[in-house]
Parts: sequence; C-alpha cells; structure tokens
Amino acid sequence: MDDGAYYLKAMNCPHHHRIYQYQPRSYRDLPLRLAEYGTCYRNELSGTLAGLLRVRGMAMNDAHIYCRRDQIKAEFRAVLELTQRYFELFGLDDYWFRLSKWDPAHTDKYINEPDNWQYTESVIREVLEEMGVKFEEAADEAAFYGPKVDVQFSSVVGREETMSTIQLDFFAKGRFDLYYIDERGRKDHDVFVIHRAPLSVHERFLAFLIEHYAGAFPTWLAPVQVKVLPVSDKHLEYAGQVMARLGGAGVRAELDDRAEPLPAKVRRAQLEKVPYMLVVGEKEAAAGQVAVRDRAGRQQTVKLEEFQDQVLEEIARRRAG
Ligand SMILES: [Zn+2]
Repeated sequence: MDDGAYYLKAMNCPHHHRIYQYQPRSYRDLPLRLAEYGTCYRNELSGTLAGLLRVRGMAMNDAHIYCRRDQIKAEFRAVLELTQRYFELFGLDDYWFRLSKWDPAHTDKYINEPDNWQYTESVIREVLEEMGVKFEEAADEAAFYGPKVDVQFSSVVGREETMSTIQLDFFAKGRFDLYYIDERGRKDHDVFVIHRAPLSVHERFLAFLIEHYAGAFPTWLAPVQVKVLPVSDKHLEYAGQVMARLGGAGVRAELDDRAEPLPAKVRRAQLEKVPYMLVVGEKEAAAGQVAVRDRAGRQQTVKLEEFQDQVLEEIARRRAG
C-alpha cells in the first residue's frame, strides 16, 4: 500500500470492463456476469448532501452483464425479475417501470446508432409487455449510451422518485474494445452491457425504507428486534439469561437495565418502535416465561422457548410484521 497513488473509485463499470478485457472471451463465455458488492465515492458539493439521500461514500449491489445481441432479452428479463423479488421482500408494491428512450431529434445527446436504439428499445418493450408489469415510456430520458428501465416510486410525500435503474449499454464495446470470439474464430464487437444495481445506492434505499416504514421496520429488518425490560433490579439476572438465549439464537436483543420504572422503559421501547418488548419480573423468572408485548399493543405471556421459536420463524420468513 505504500507505493504508488491510490484513487477513490467513482463507479464500478470501467473496472468490470477491464476484467472483461483481461482475457479473450468466446461466444460460449457469454453472458458473463460480474457482480460486486462495492463502495463508490463521489465528491458531491457539500450544499447538496442530504442525510442518507445524497452522500459521498456509497455502497451498491452492482453488476455488469456482458451479453450477445440474442441474449439481451433473457438477461434483461432476469434482471427485472430480480428487481421485483427484491422489492417484494421489502413489502414494496407501489411502483412502476419506466422505459426511458432516446430522442432521435437530439443525436448530440446520444450515441448515434439508430439501429441499436431501435432494436434494444423494442426488445425491452417486449420484455415489459410479456411480464405484464405496469410501465410507461418516456422519450429523451435514456442514458447517452442506451435505453434504460427506471423503477419509479411515489414517495410518502407524493414525489415521484427513481429508486433503481437497469441500463443497457452499446457504447462500452467501442470505448473499451470489448469483443468475443465467434463460432468461426473471428472477433465480434457486438457486445452489450447491462448495468444493474437493483437496490440502488444502499444509503438512499435505506432512507427510502425509513420513510416508508416510518421507523417501524418489520422484525427481520429492525436494528433492535427485541427489548428486554426487567421490572426491577431484582430481575436483572433472569433478564440476562433471556438476553443470552436470544442473542445466542441470533436475535438482535437489547436490555434496558436503567434504574427506571417499568412504564418509562415501555415508553422508550415504544418510541424506538422496537417490534417486541419482553417484560420480565418475579412470575416470569419463576416460570421461565416472558410477558410479550408487540408494537400493536398485543400481549401474551409465553415460555421463553416458545417466543424464541415464534420470533425466529418470523425473521426467517421475512414477514412484513
Ligand atoms: Zn455500470
């Protein structure tokens, strides 16, 4: 690390293109999918930084898919389906796709390959139609290197936002000399690149989730899933056993051992929107039980093992709550 100069990486694309270039690729190697759970950096002006929405260091589940012309359709569809799966996982269903196209009248803004624009836009339209998803088309919204599909959301304040983008790229092949060796042993430069980051910049996605759930995350996502509230100091020992057991099972539990009356502890846990509070006192300690109270105010007293099984099952199924 002591020699040479190091740089902050602004994006992953050129690095992946270099990996592609590194050795000859045969038509049989395609599609080639390079994924990277990487960080990128942008020197955003300080005035434009805003909470998690716009940051200078960001994480993305980024990938680049290198494919032949005849593979675009299947690859693009697979990426759209992956995106749908992700959003379903987060309980997000109020979104639509936008096919962002070029504008032939503005050839200065776009790579001037009309045949490729025509072909790729129609392939993507076909995919969207075949999937039966809600989508609209927008002219003059493409990237300069190819059409894209944007995933559009209405934010809680009613603003339309692009949450993630899947881009098709027929510029990289020329710029980075990408090719493959075809069936007859000849170089073919008809390499298409799909840029995809289904969960976008994670910081931004997290900001969206915080607003979407208004802080009340489903249990599998909650930073603290369970809060253990001893009735008094006398019950700290049993509370410690509860913590050890849940922690050992992988549940994110936190102990409120402040010298405060129980109602104050309950209030704080409610404000923190913790999915489950476990009140432990004399009776619970004696019986190996916990008095469970969920965010909706439902209460039940059950054996600790039983609660553990329930919460683990809820987390494993990523139930929305
Ligand atoms: Zn990219």
